[in-house]
Amino acid sequence: MGDHSDFLSSLPRLPLPSPEEMERAREEERRRPPLVTTLPAPDFVPGGIARFHCALRCGWYHDEAPGLEPMGLVRVPVGFTPEELSAAISAQAEARAEQFRRRVESAIAAHFASAHPDH
Ligand SMILES: [Zn+2]
Repeated sequence: MGDHSDFLSSLPRLPLPSPEEMERAREEERRRPPLVTTLPAPDFVPGGIARFHCALRCGWYHDEAPGLEPMGLVRVPVGFTPEELSAAISAQAEARAEQFRRRVESAIAAHFASAHPDH
């Protein structure tokens, strides 16, 4: 991930890719396997909600709506290639996945601390 950030920060903040190019790169991104994380597998609730249940099944859960998160800006160099655009979008997706993972992990950790202090 460090490689990506170094790569991105070295690029000039110039033109954004066209919607078609973004769509093509996102489509590629969707075809990639999801990141492996340490999170428990969520249930998918209608409305695009990923619901993370307490591992002890006490009834607690934490909801996330991954599809509702803004994409944010993707920076690419002037005259970028499809590979560069794809790499920039991947780096951004990884950063968002990392934030998502941390958010869910800290919600679960906080729940355990208050409801299951013995675990
Ligand atoms: Zn619990």
